[in-house]
Amino acid sequence: MPVYNAAQVADVATALRQAQADWAALSLQQRLAALSELVNAIEADREELVQALSQDTGRQQESVMEVNGVQNTLRRWLATAPALLAHEAPRRSQVPSILIEQHRRPYVLAGVISPWNFPLMLSMIDAIPALAVGCAVMVKPSESTPRFVPVFQKTIARVPALSKVLGFVTGPGQTGEALIRNSDLICFTGSVRTGRRVCELAAQCFIPAHLELGGKDPAIVCADADIAQAARALAWGSMVNAGQSCQSIERCYVHRSILEPFVKALQLEVAGLKSNFLEIDQGQIGPIIAGLQAPIVQRHLSQALSQGAKAVVGGQVREHQGGLWCEPTVLVNVTPEMAIMTEETFAAILPVMPFDTEEEAVHLANSSIFGLSACVFSRNVERAKSIAAQLHAGAVSINDASLTAIVHDAAKQSFKASGLGGSRMGAPSLQRFYRQQAFMIKDVGADSPWWYPKAAEPQIT
Ligand code: NAD
Repeated sequence: MPVYNAAQVADVATALRQAQADWAALSLQQRLAALSELVNAIEADREELVQALSQDTGRQQESVMEVNGVQNTLRRWLATAPALLAHEAPRRSQVPSILIEQHRRPYVLAGVISPWNFPLMLSMIDAIPALAVGCAVMVKPSESTPRFVPVFQKTIARVPALSKVLGFVTGPGQTGEALIRNSDLICFTGSVRTGRRVCELAAQCFIPAHLELGGKDPAIVCADADIAQAARALAWGSMVNAGQSCQSIERCYVHRSILEPFVKALQLEVAGLKSNFLEIDQGQIGPIIAGLQAPIVQRHLSQALSQGAKAVVGGQVREHQGGLWCEPTVLVNVTPEMAIMTEETFAAILPVMPFDTEEEAVHLANSSIFGLSACVFSRNVERAKSIAAQLHAGAVSINDASLTAIVHDAAKQSFKASGLGGSRMGAPSLQRFYRQQAFMIKDVGADSPWWYPKAAEPQIT
């Protein structure tokens, strides 16, 4: 893939900025019509896109999910944007003789930087609402998984109106820095470490930064939970995409009274998951996608096992023909201090530990620098909600796990080190991409009673 240097990124930005004026001048319906064409263009290139994504990530089911996910995201905004971006009728101010008109002025160029775990989906999840509002968008995907870019550029070229306002640049962190310097706002998805750097640069450039960063999502399984349902949901929430999702469940706290049957049920669910080596279209568990992540996974696992944790299923990272697959793993006998309980592992590993009281469960769940999402299982929904309200997390799934992967119409923000900025999901997502401009129009001929009092008439003596 080409590595775009600063000058090349600036050239792409200039062309996108020039095209943005015409894009923003289109009616909302015209912009949405172009986005609707993109749904069909993606369908036409579906196989090639899935192939490129699968080649970079080593997994196929999730690549299909990604392509479907982008189409569904487009459909959702097509259905909801007209009402959310409807023109506001002018209204009278509380101040006499003043009419207020509210206008939305899109940022000219939105920059998007995405990670390697869902290369296409996380490149488009912010780009789509930005385009709907009227911004041009420049995307820099991860240098670990950029193979979909030339295919997707061909897809975009099928929609001429869009091809001028949606551009991609490829390359490593320096390309990302150049993108930030050339953007009017930045949407970043990635690690906390890079997020801090992105935030610093955005501050220097004086542009807003919306950061979606890492997590260490906890699950709390109460004594009255449906054990089978919880085990099934948590197996999915911790293992899908081989655990390489920001909203992966990475810690599980279970009431001591049901620990044994719960672990048994979870063990059965997870033991049924198979690696997709040698057949990419078979099995559920793909490889560790990024080379840099592998030593982190291995360190967390070996440290936990050497400190007394026990794998009731899985427990090893296996090498096949130069690739690394983390076995779907359930750990017990873990302690809260272990790296596997505190740092983001990003692998198909679920450590489970017991709790005795709800207060303890909440304390354990909140003992983290992260605050992305969480989940609570209880047959008593009021109890689950009362626990959820005490959790420092932007999204809490109740009686299911990792629902933000599929529920994109609920607004949520990241807590603590998991992010900063507006909600990527739900109606407020659109607000990130425009400034509000107010016209305050004085009635023609009206006086200004709040202005300096008229000078007193000169007294003729
Ligand atoms: P990363 O931070 O290493 O890289 C993310 C992107 O930032 C890449 O495109 C990279 O090239 C770019 N980058 C690196 N240095 C940069 C710099 N100085 N300036 C600008 N851009 C720079 O993250 P990753 O390893 O690709 O992805 C995994 C991380 O992403 C995990 O922590 C995961 O939790 C997180 N993530 C979060 C969400 C979310 O919605 N909260 C979703 C998916 C992934």
